[in-house]
Amino acid sequence: MRRSMEKYSLVKVIGEGSFGRAVLVRCKSSQEKYVVKEIQLPKNQSKLENSRREAILLSRMKHPNIVAFREAFEADELLWIVMEYCSGGDLLQRIKQQKSNQFSVDNILKWFAEMCAGAKHIHDQRVLHRDLKSKNIFLTDNGTVKLGDFGSACILNSSKAYAHAYVGTPYYVAPEIWDNKPYNNKSDVWSLGCVLYELCTLRHPFQASSWKSLILKVCRGAYPPLPSHLPYELQYLVKQMFKTNPKDRPSLHTILTSHRVSKLLRTHL
Ligand code: ADP
Ligand code: MG
Repeated sequence: MRRSMEKYSLVKVIGEGSFGRAVLVRCKSSQEKYVVKEIQLPKNQSKLENSRREAILLSRMKHPNIVAFREAFEADELLWIVMEYCSGGDLLQRIKQQKSNQFSVDNILKWFAEMCAGAKHIHDQRVLHRDLKSKNIFLTDNGTVKLGDFGSACILNSSKAYAHAYVGTPYYVAPEIWDNKPYNNKSDVWSLGCVLYELCTLRHPFQASSWKSLILKVCRGAYPPLPSHLPYELQYLVKQMFKTNPKDRPSLHTILTSHRVSKLLRTHL
């Protein structure tokens, strides 16, 4: 098994988290760069399944707007997931770089359409991402958006979708999750609504100084209105994605094919 990692040489560590680390590597034969996510494998059997799920689910995806899986292997209580390297960094960094300089409507819509196409592909495989946020959306060198970090992903309607222990940044979490309802495809739509809003304003839609007031705002769907110079269709879209009842929220299929949105995308892209 070790031999599998020997075909790569380490360039630098690019991220460190509770799981282990993300490392930029170079393939010795092709000189291509890849990212390797190195995950410490737990001894407990059910936790072991959880760790392996990320590699299994990512390997099932094949879409221009999802980080491409290359290979995965295990050795010495470590799991390595080798994937495409997105050299443009993550969308959160990109948003921060803007300072107070707004993105153009064309730019917002291009990235939004790309992330919806990626997320629709995930849902079409009956998988939920469950951690869509600007930090888990990566950019390639030519500015294409790719969804990554399948560390929280699960199969739709699996027991995991019900047992949702939330850990992480709370800004993107849909109201039904705070209400202890199961995670569903519309919860991912809510999170993408948060990213769309962030692209439009460079701020989170739901922000507060305490968890309690944040959760209250999310559960009421109370967010500051978008700047009035943005097209009406964009304001309408955000409003639909922030419907507090998941049944009232559009699916990704509806978003990508609805008359209003496709008209908006046609006009701007
Ligand atoms: P986690 O959020 O669980 O720590 P991620 O999969 O999001 O793990 O990876 C951690 C960090 O590593 C990311 O925030 C990003 O900066 C970097 N990273 C991960 N995958 C890639 C990739 N394919 N291309 C570029 N950077 C990546
Ligand atoms: Mg992440």
